[in-house]
Amino acid sequence: MGGIQQMRDDFSSHNSHVLIKWLGRDRAWEEKVNQRREVMAKVVSIDLGECNDCEGCIEICPEVFRRNESMGYIEVVELDEYPEEEVLEAINICPADCIGWEYI
Ligand code: SF4
Repeated sequence: MGGIQQMRDDFSSHNSHVLIKWLGRDRAWEEKVNQRREVMAKVVSIDLGECNDCEGCIEICPEVFRRNESMGYIEVVELDEYPEEEVLEAINICPADCIGWEYI
């Protein structure tokens, strides 16, 4: 075999190796990120610039969200661990899409 078909096969084979190499890097990177996440604290955050003050999060999850009475904005209660399901529900109902997880 030779000619154009050989070149195509070589090119295809070369690209497969490159792709496999990159996928391997992606997996290694993903594992590193996951390992790092395991040692990081997962906390809830609110983008106050986007918050419209509807209090939906407080209704859904009052153990995590509250109004800071002196400053007037919604804040996140400092907890060692956050209830995943309730926070997820608050994230899903937030009309401003301004609640999220942060790794610190
Ligand atoms: S649900 Fe979202 S927009 Fe409404 S108060 Fe909470 S953070 Fe703000």
